[in-house]
Amino acid sequence: MKQALVTGGNRGIGKAIAAGLRDAGMHVIIGARDPDQGRAAAAELGVHFKRLDLDDHTSINEAKAWVGQLDVLVNNAGILEDVALFDDGPNFARSMQVMVNGPYELIRNTLEGMRANGYGRIVNVSSEWGSFSEGLGGGGGYAVAKAALNALTLRASQELPDTIKINAMCPGWVRTRMGGPFATREPEQAAKTAIWLATLPQDGPTGGFFRDKQPIEW
Ligand code: NDP
Repeated sequence: MKQALVTGGNRGIGKAIAAGLRDAGMHVIIGARDPDQGRAAAAELGVHFKRLDLDDHTSINEAKAWVGQLDVLVNNAGILEDVALFDDGPNFARSMQVMVNGPYELIRNTLEGMRANGYGRIVNVSSEWGSFSEGLGGGGGYAVAKAALNALTLRASQELPDTIKINAMCPGWVRTRMGGPFATREPEQAAKTAIWLATLPQDGPTGGFFRDKQPIEW
């Protein structure tokens, strides 16, 4: 049975991805920073929970002890504050920590097991707001962090064996706490592309950026 971690899996798109991977027959762990919310979501989904706060170095270090056993890693956790790039230094640092440095550490520590097993699927939940072709719209720290997550995806794909696929995706505008009540998509619809990327066959793509299972511009 393949083991998968979905960060920020207690609600929103991450929760829908976790449900989809469970239905695909995986042993799913949701990472959540709040233990009560994490346990409650895991019980509801019938999956497992581990505390993981990507803005907390101790928590990331604790995760290094077990992420080496993963076959699938979905870096989904994200934060969005609508602030200009230079108005809020701590927001910039937090955005980079949660959406770039944290995923980097998880990927790095997951790879040892994936290399040994000759199998790995890594999905980075990004955003068109991190796309140069879309002009990096959105909160300043958020846009730069998502652009860096895209860069991490592409560069990693160039250094990894072809048994390990790493891709980024944009879920579209989704009705979650981040997307708000007027968003046009449900989390389950957005999750489909992540689930597809997390279950790619050996001849599937790597180093790409996708929406609705179709390639989009970086
Ligand atoms: P939500 O705000 O609903 O969920 C965000 C998740 O990330 C929550 O589980 C949250 O945990 C978790 N999280 C935030 N900070 C941390 C942290 N420090 N450590 C661990 N987990 C953390 O957002 P969505 O479900 O909409 O977003 C999921 C992903 O999709 C994000 O990466 C987002 O950028 C991306 N995305 C979303 C879009 C949308 O329209 N919704 C559009 C484009 C991209 P907690 O419950 O504790 O806050």
